[in-house]
Amino acid sequence: MKQILNFIDGEFVAGSHGRAFDKRSPVTNEVIASVAEASKADVDRAVAAGKAALRGPWGRMTTAERVDMLHAIADGITRRFDDFVATELSDTGMPVSLARHAFVPRGAANFKIFADIVKNVPSEFFEMATPDGRGAINYAIRRPVGVVGVICPWNAPLLLMTWKVGPALACGNTVVVKPSEETPQSAALLGEVMNEVGLPKGVYNVVHGFGPDSTGEFVTSHPDVDAITFTGETRTGAAIMKTAAVGARPVSLEMGGKNPAIVFADCDLDVAIENVMRSAFANTGQVCLGTERVYVERPLFERFVEALKRGAEALRLDRPELSGTGMGPLISQEHRGKVLSYYRKAVEEGANVVTGGGVPDMPAELKEGAWVQPTIWTGLPETASVVREEIFGPCCHVAPFDSEDEVIRLANDTRYGLSASVYTTNLARAHRVSAQLEAGIVWVNSWFLRDLRTAFGGAKQSGIGREGGVHSLEFYTELKNVCIKL
Ligand code: NAD
Repeated sequence: MKQILNFIDGEFVAGSHGRAFDKRSPVTNEVIASVAEASKADVDRAVAAGKAALRGPWGRMTTAERVDMLHAIADGITRRFDDFVATELSDTGMPVSLARHAFVPRGAANFKIFADIVKNVPSEFFEMATPDGRGAINYAIRRPVGVVGVICPWNAPLLLMTWKVGPALACGNTVVVKPSEETPQSAALLGEVMNEVGLPKGVYNVVHGFGPDSTGEFVTSHPDVDAITFTGETRTGAAIMKTAAVGARPVSLEMGGKNPAIVFADCDLDVAIENVMRSAFANTGQVCLGTERVYVERPLFERFVEALKRGAEALRLDRPELSGTGMGPLISQEHRGKVLSYYRKAVEEGANVVTGGGVPDMPAELKEGAWVQPTIWTGLPETASVVREEIFGPCCHVAPFDSEDEVIRLANDTRYGLSASVYTTNLARAHRVSAQLEAGIVWVNSWFLRDLRTAFGGAKQSGIGREGGVHSLEFYTELKNVCIKL
């Protein structure tokens, strides 16, 4: 069986206490790998390696040298492209088309884009008057924060991890990454790439394990971890924030969502259907930016629901490596249990099940996988749990609305505020509605269109802080002002 090891100070190592845990395939539920669990002592070693690397050749590199290194890492990922696709498929069960065309290329792009950003970032400079008339000048230097703890989720493992590791390294930090226990493989594979391209030892460390009272918390509570960046559930983020308060360490939190799509009757219906389909069902609905609430202007409501139903029923559920697969399984049996409990709750709360609502009939060799049907509901009140709570599965509730004011109120009536999408051909309305939606990102007539230079993060309980482009520099660096008396 495949062994997945920790990556500490440039070396692959087992857990010092000898413990390992099983990684199961979401597709078949078979055990596919044994993952070395990092002990507290292993986390100590990883953090110490990160600290030492800051004082070694890595800490002495010029920005230009770091930029070259980041490009080499991106090229290294591209060279091992098929291996990364295979690890993402094996860990998550995502369809090969998604891994090949979106998630793995973004893994490489996350290093390139931040290399280019740090290369071009301007610095501030101020002249000032002094009483002796000779004056002084001030200029700012960006310093790395230090050792950054990177706590990752499982839904897009390589993409979401590199989204943080890329800028952290670009800014000269070192990292201790704790991948999700569900998806340990791509972080380990990236360790191989780091060695292949000659990244100094200790700059990139990976420790495997769980969250509370385990590896995750060993990282976030470590006094020598200087900053913590996290993607995952809101309540985990809140727990991490509490831990980070000890030592007053900065946090960047990217958390859950319950994102609305608003479809006006004047929209291009094909565009709306294509994008709502993707945003509800891509990656089996396990996308933080995905849509679980759809509001459709009443004159279009029935046509829209009918078209979305046709789309959902046409999705082919199959092995991730097949090119025609439209939807894979959920990440795990545990997560399937959670999603199916919402499927039952929806019915108990009076939903009209337009399509799906259960477990698909899969061939014998896939029967044990974490499969669920893509599901659409209508007819629920806004107070229903499937309308209020993040499910993180391939499902959405569709409700009619009658006015712009009403739909803005409905869309904003949530503790979350990650993303929203609006479908309309009325330009003024697009601007008007976008401005009023309480979300970190609003798409108009699209979904998941991301320019990595733009700010990314959640409003309300969906996040704290913004990453992306120069905004990442605010978190991964500290500005030092140098004042020189002339
Ligand atoms: P999760 O919060 O359960 O786990 C995320 C990571 O945190 C895992 O590595 C886990 O081991 C670790 N962890 C858990 N408890 C911890 C603790 N007390 N201390 C330290 N580490 C701890 O999230 P998940 O189930 O892996 O991911 C799904 C969630 O992530 C969804 O809520 C989704 O919306 C969210 N998400 C958000 C974004 C975003 O950009 N806002 C992106 C992707 C996913």
